[in-house]
Amino acid sequence: MRKISIFGATGSIGESTFDLLMRQGGPEAFHTVALTGGRNVARLAEMAIALRAEIAVTAHDECYDTLKAALSGHKIAVASGAQALVEAAHRPADWVMSAIVGSAGLAPGFAALSQGRTLALANKESLVTAGPLLLAEARAHGATILPVDSEHSAIFQGLVGEDIADVERIIITASGGAFRDWPMEKLAQASVAQASSHPNWDMGQRITIDSASMFNKALEVIEAKEFFAVTPDQIEVVVHPQSIVHALVGFRDGGLMAHMGVPDMRHAIGYALNWPARRELPVARLDLAAIGQLDFRAPDPARYPALRLAREVMEIGGLAGAAFNAAKEAALDLFIAGRIGFLDMARLVEQVLSEMSARQGLGTAAISLDNVLATDAEARRLAFAICDQGR
Ligand code: NDP
Ligand code: MG
Repeated sequence: MRKISIFGATGSIGESTFDLLMRQGGPEAFHTVALTGGRNVARLAEMAIALRAEIAVTAHDECYDTLKAALSGHKIAVASGAQALVEAAHRPADWVMSAIVGSAGLAPGFAALSQGRTLALANKESLVTAGPLLLAEARAHGATILPVDSEHSAIFQGLVGEDIADVERIIITASGGAFRDWPMEKLAQASVAQASSHPNWDMGQRITIDSASMFNKALEVIEAKEFFAVTPDQIEVVVHPQSIVHALVGFRDGGLMAHMGVPDMRHAIGYALNWPARRELPVARLDLAAIGQLDFRAPDPARYPALRLAREVMEIGGLAGAAFNAAKEAALDLFIAGRIGFLDMARLVEQVLSEMSARQGLGTAAISLDNVLATDAEARRLAFAICDQGR
């Protein structure tokens, strides 16, 4: 029986993964090693019972007792805290879903790779903050990373049977998010609730807001550079409001391979789950005649400064991705808390990046797990300090 674990089981990707596992036979077909969550321990316990997991882990120590109580009478181990997440990743498993949100997903994913696992990677922050480190760890231990982000899954699928040396460019599509058609002058006043509603995809709140600001696409450009080993100028972003074409791969002969599908993450998750085979998946089928037309346009740089910042991050290299991601996470926290406006997020991230890159070493320091975590902490601290000082 295949042994699987889900990190971030209670989130949007985690729920979709759970749904697919249950449809493909649940505990009769899979041996579930670890399921992890954060505060939603009631749901974590339900999932652990349904899949008969070996262990359920909450990231938060203060949630331990509630999780323990919810699992009393079941032969399921319970643990809490960041270290417990890493230990859970050391347990033998064949396939591990990395779907924690934010840089908190890095250490458990890294630990799974150090054990030679197949890591289905939804947590794009891992590649943005520590891409070279993760890839080297995977190589050293014979581990496999399968992309779950829909665009990267699409590119991955477009490359099957191809030689990466024949790839001229990669085109990632972006829906444009919640404010695609808003007048620019209204954006400064955009509320958290307005930014939290995506026109096409049903996702966790943080990535949905990141889609409205295009920080999500900025992370994805860096993710693509790391994962597919292409240069920044080989990666293009195009706004595609229907979210039907997820990405395109352009080859040296001028041909473009597009991957299309309904916006349902269960396709990319299911592809990673069943790879290298394909299986029936419960996703709606496209009716192209009913859709009628697909639109594409260039992203407006004034509306989406995050895309420019991603280019700067790739230019700096080294630990810039870790600083960028953490500053973005802090800015998002501040926006959700009502302390800064929607447009202030990009301004704050830019300020953190410019202050940190003015110091020595951001672009040249070795990327170790410790360096990445220290840079992450420093960028968050700086972002909050700049906000507190009203700079
Ligand atoms: P959600 O916010 O829906 O879920 C996040 C998960 O991580 C939950 O299980 C949550 O627990 C847990 N979690 C939150 N904070 C921590 C922490 N500090 N330590 C450990 N666990 C924590 O996120 P999504 O499912 O939307 O996204 C997950 C990842 O997948 C992100 O990296 C995102 O960028 C990526 N992704 C998501 C897509 C989507 O469609 N949702 C598409 C492509 C990529 P709890 O809820 O119990 O507190
Ligand atoms: Mg994506």
